[in-house]
Amino acid sequence: MLYFYSSYRSTESVRINHALHLVAPDHLLYQQPSIVKGRTDVVTVTPWLAPIVWEKTFNPELLDSIYRQQNISVVATVFAVGKYVMFLKDFLETAEQHFFVGFRVHIYVFTDRPDEMPQVEMATNRAVTVRTVPSSNRWQTISARRMEFIQTLIEEKLQGSTDYIFCLDVDSKFHGHWGTESLSGLVAVIHPGYYRDPRSKFPYERRAQSSAYIAVGEGDFYYCGGAFGGSLDEVYLLVKTCRLNFEADAAEGIEATWQEESHLNRYMWINKPSKVLSPEYLWQDFNPRRQEIRIIRFSGVDKNYADIRPNN
Ligand code: UDP
Ligand code: MN
Repeated sequence: MLYFYSSYRSTESVRINHALHLVAPDHLLYQQPSIVKGRTDVVTVTPWLAPIVWEKTFNPELLDSIYRQQNISVVATVFAVGKYVMFLKDFLETAEQHFFVGFRVHIYVFTDRPDEMPQVEMATNRAVTVRTVPSSNRWQTISARRMEFIQTLIEEKLQGSTDYIFCLDVDSKFHGHWGTESLSGLVAVIHPGYYRDPRSKFPYERRAQSSAYIAVGEGDFYYCGGAFGGSLDEVYLLVKTCRLNFEADAAEGIEATWQEESHLNRYMWINKPSKVLSPEYLWQDFNPRRQEIRIIRFSGVDKNYADIRPNN
């Protein structure tokens, strides 16, 4: 795309990659950044120098003003198959309050019960579209096939019109700001259940026959299957790869321990995320609150698995 940026005085145009070139508005006033004062209780950068996003490591007003100039469009996907439709109302209502407020947002809901879609009022420039998917009598299949349906959605609808996409679990609510600070090429979220554990304890797929295999002594973090995202191109590659690997495993009669989450972890180990979101971005209501968690932005609600899943 050809684009004139404000400090470029020549009449020539230059080719700009929006994802890498961040332009702030002229004379915007904000707090002076520091390289010696900041959070010291948590690690804010990975060994491959990707930011790890925690509260108080970024300035939301500054970031919003940069991305507003790019007029970005953000898609979120969410699946509500079978009884999981009951989570949609809270998910959608709280997304209206916290998720990319003020930006162009399109939420795609995948369900087998389109008649049970709750009516949620959406702000200007925000929309919900329902896509019908088949039911299944195995929760493992419902969870894992998300990769395939997201791939199809990107191919059929999103390519060329969407800048960023986030793929989220429905059994969760937003409680705090989730916005432009989360944008990057490939974005992973640290799982709230394992972030203080040695990697030998991570529930990676440990059978070498699976294409999701990660050996003991390998891996970086344990990432969530319930939230990931990034630029449309990066997420397209991720969902396509995880789907292919999941299906290749199935052809060999093997299903990874945590289905698509295991494949996602393997993918993110090899393809390092360019931004990592702290467990603020997917907490679990039943977890005790910890000191380093200064804000909970998105959290899985307590649920009775036996009541809502089609199988145990
Ligand atoms: N899901 C669904 N119906 C089911 C099981 C799963 O729609 O019967 C979808 C839903 O979006 C859910 C996601 O798959 O949030 C992952 O499953 P779940 O949240 O039960 O896994 P957990 O977060 O408990 O590991
Ligand atoms: Mn969940």
